[in-house]
Parts: sequence; C-alpha cells; structure tokens
Amino acid sequence: MTIASGLEGIQCKDCGFRVIELSISCPSCGSDHIEPVLLKETGTIYTFTIVHVGFGHMAERAPYVLAIIKTDDDLKLTTILEDLSDFDSVAIGKKVRYKRTDEKIGPIFQLV
Ligand SMILES: [Zn+2]
Repeated sequence: MTIASGLEGIQCKDCGFRVIELSISCPSCGSDHIEPVLLKETGTIYTFTIVHVGFGHMAERAPYVLAIIKTDDDLKLTTILEDLSDFDSVAIGKKVRYKRTDEKIGPIFQLV
C-alpha cells in the first residue's frame, strides 16, 4: 500500500463502485478497469468499540477505539480513532475527519 496524501480509494470504470481499500480489481464486479480517487475526508461514527487487549502490531496501542465510520461519500470503513482526550468523547453519530494513513493500519481518523 502506498501512503497517500489524502484519503485514497479506487473507483471502478465499469460499474462505478467505489471503495476505500486499495485493490487491483473491483470488489463489486471484478473488473480490473479501476482508477485511484481521492475521497471526502469527513464522515460520522457509525458504530465503535473500545479495544482493551490488542494483538500483533496493535498490542502496544491498546486501549484504543476501533470504529466503523461512514464517510461523506457514503462509504463505510473500519478504522481507529486517534487524539482522543477520553473515550467518553466518542459517540455514534459524531463527526470525524481523516488524519493520516498508517502503513500497517490504513486510514486513521480523529474527532472533528
Ligand atoms: Zn466494478
């Protein structure tokens, strides 16, 4: 995965399907006529959980917030939230913004 300057995804030239995860073919129709696109960097928390015991490269990060967010492009993405003052500030429906892309984790978001 390359480190993008923004929230990068792919769009299928055949069916128009868009997804945040980078892929070599369209996850919807299987076409390899895909192109990279920059996506809206804002969204809302769809659901989340607090992970107290991480594993692998996430172990030292725990506790952390694992969230599914719905971006303003109407795409869902599993991500983690950074820069939280406390976990009570996290709630379903709260606005988030893309922060950066981590080599191992992928896109990381923060509260707006
Ligand atoms: Zn497609």
